[in-house]
Parts: sequence; C-alpha cells; structure tokens
Amino acid sequence: MTTSILPWQNDTWRQLTARIAQGELAHALLLHGPEGVGKNQFARELAKRLLCETAKGTAGACGQCRSCQLLQADSHEDLFLLTPEEERTTIGVDAVRALIEFMNLTPRRGKFKVALVFPADRMTLNAANSLLKTLEEPATAAVFILVTSRPAMLPATVRSRCQKLHMTLPDHQTAVTWLTQRMASPTEAEHALRRARGAPLSALAEANEDWRRAEENVFQQWCNVAKNPSLVFDTAQGWTKGDGSQALRWLSGWVSDMARCRATNDTAGMVDARRAGALQAMAKQVDLKPLFTYLSAVERAVRDCGGALNSQLLVENVLLEWAALFGRTAQGHSQG
Ligand SMILES: [Zn+2]
Repeated sequence: MTTSILPWQNDTWRQLTARIAQGELAHALLLHGPEGVGKNQFARELAKRLLCETAKGTAGACGQCRSCQLLQADSHEDLFLLTPEEERTTIGVDAVRALIEFMNLTPRRGKFKVALVFPADRMTLNAANSLLKTLEEPATAAVFILVTSRPAMLPATVRSRCQKLHMTLPDHQTAVTWLTQRMASPTEAEHALRRARGAPLSALAEANEDWRRAEENVFQQWCNVAKNPSLVFDTAQGWTKGDGSQALRWLSGWVSDMARCRATNDTAGMVDARRAGALQAMAKQVDLKPLFTYLSAVERAVRDCGGALNSQLLVENVLLEWAALFGRTAQGHSQG
C-alpha cells in the first residue's frame, strides 16, 4: 500500500491494483464524488502506479525507477494531463483530439498510456462526443481516468463507457484523525471539517492562511452587497475570475447557518461558528421563508457553477437575490 493513498480510499486502491495485476483494468475509469474527498490525488497515484516500472501488488509507484523520475519531473512520455487551459473554463474539442492522437500511439516505456482528464465535466459536448468514439474502441494500452464531482454533467453515453468509482466522504472519526495529524489540535480539525462539510482535503486547504483571507474577503463583499446592490456586478466579476463555485460554497454554508439560527434562535451547531454573531444579526433582518428559498437558490448555483451556464451571470443572480432579501434592488430603490 502506498502512503499517498488516503486511508478512506484503501479499499478502492486494493480493488484497482488487483485488477491491474490480473490484466483486467478497464480502459476507462470515472472517478466521481464530492469536492475535497481526494479524487485528483487518487487519480494521480493510480497514473503513477500504472507507469511505474517495478510496482507490484497493492504497492504504489516505487519513486525510484526511470518512469517515476520522469513523472516527478512532469515529463513522462506516456502520461497526458487534460485540464482546462488557464484562461478558459472548458476543455475543447481540439484538446481532446490531441489527447486521442496521443493515446493511440504505442507506449514509449511501459505497458500503458495514461490520460488524466479533470474536471471531466468541463469538456464541451463536442469534446465529450469526440472522446466517446475513442472510449468505444480504445487502444490496447490506453487507460483513461476521468475525474469529476459532477458526473451528471457528462453525457450518459460517456458515463456508460466508463467503469464508475464512487469516492465517498470518510466517516467523521477517520477524517478527524487524518486532519489532526496535519493541524494544530483535534478541536481545530473538528471545526475545519465542519466548515468543509466533511470533506477532509477541503478542510485542510481552508485551514491555509491565504484561503482564510480569501474567505474573509468574500464574506465582507457579500455583506456589503446586502447594503449596496450597486456592488453586485463588480463583486460577481471578482468572484468568477477564478472558479466562482468556491465563493458560492462559502455562501451556502453561511445561508444555511442563517436559516438555522433564524428557525431555532440558536447558534449551536453552526457551520461557521466564528461568524455566528454577524450571521445571526443578518438573519434577524429577513423572514424565514424567503431565506429558505434563497438557500435553495444558492445550492442550485453551487451545483450549476462551472458547467455550461455562464458563471458570472449565475453569481450575479445569487447576489441580486441576496440584496432583494434585504429589500434592496440593483437600482438602489427600496422595494418596500
Ligand atoms: Zn517506479
């Protein structure tokens, strides 16, 4: 077993390495599951394991052989990483064609040519259809590893060509134990895990200082929009410069906290206990029913963001509805 495999993914790892040993690994795998569960890390370990020249059994890549060295230098000739280009949010048909051409070549070093596609749901429909043809008749050495937290956004035809591996969140105790080894204290681990809705890798990332600063900025801007809707468009633009879905995930936590303390007048059990006071104060200004309606809207936006819909428009709507909750519209007139 390799130490880079997360404890809650050991079983999946054992199954896959057994299939590799028996020469029965599927040509296309679809790794899916929630954000922050460790799908990408797992996919990379699997790619390394397939390309390593000496690994056997459930062991991971050896880290020593020529292939492993090339992987560490990001220059292995049999691995193709397909992700959206920096300036774009989608994976286009040209990129997929280049991948297909690559995958049809004979391996340069070992037995496999490996493609890592993530997030696979970012493929345009044309790109996905183009990949589909290859998934129907893959080259003998080809292994496609598709990674996504939104499998429903892939065409059903593509999904049906892949062996699906569902990566689930670990149980609470496993996650806390793992996080505690990486954070200051079990209490901090508990808090971070709660804020990340049980996703350990998100919890760890969120504990990072930059991340906290970004979260605080989003919170402040969101509070400002409630008072001044003319900020909606600039705010939405800022949030969607990178991946707007992160800001929306934070929002969904805060809104669910607001709904909880509006309904029960109790701050215990809040996702973001550090902001309990501010969230409670905002919750008092709005009615419960519209707050729940808004919560559904935010959760829908979290799901849709980064997909086919225009992310900025999506975030703008979420912010406009937010301002409207406080009786404010984009023109600055009071609704009532
Ligand atoms: Zn190796």
